[in-house]
Amino acid sequence: MRVCGIDGCEEKHYAFSCCHKHYDYNRRRGTLHIPKKKTLTERILDNIKIVGGCWEWQKCVTPLGYGHIRTNGITRLAHRESYKVFVGEIPAGLYVMHSCDNPCCCNPEHLLVGTTQDNTRDRQEKGRGASGEQCGASKLTERDVLSIRSRLALGEKQAPIAREYNLDPSTISSIYTGRNWKHI
Ligand SMILES: [Zn+2]
Ligand SMILES: [Zn+2]
Repeated sequence: MRVCGIDGCEEKHYAFSCCHKHYDYNRRRGTLHIPKKKTLTERILDNIKIVGGCWEWQKCVTPLGYGHIRTNGITRLAHRESYKVFVGEIPAGLYVMHSCDNPCCCNPEHLLVGTTQDNTRDRQEKGRGASGEQCGASKLTERDVLSIRSRLALGEKQAPIAREYNLDPSTISSIYTGRNWKHI
């Protein structure tokens, strides 16, 4: 039989590690040790491992490598939640991007908000534009996806973009319609 957790008390356990008498006593004094719900900040810090400066998400990683976390019953992207907790609100319509190109990273210092145009520029500055670099569908970074989407939105044709990225045209159209990469 589980007994009361108070030193010297052998009464039957009732709740919160106390017998009925000690439960009542502590409840009245406001000293019941009710397990505290972890805050979002604590949950994020508990779920990461620091690898080379990146805070790599350890749980529930999507096929594209993004971390997932459930808050208020909704599954959300861990790096966006981390940005909100450690940096601030994400302005409407903006994306949270990784300066480290590591999708599962939640280090707020590696996260920045930007528009799809910023993504395109960033990509060009890093010399990853139309360099003919081999890039399979699974190797697309979020910047690639955002860049492809904004170029299509600006009226570029799908076929040349598909060639540039060495992708099947159907992949390009599914990026555009959001059938894949819905979360970006
Ligand atoms: Zn007791
Ligand atoms: Zn990082």
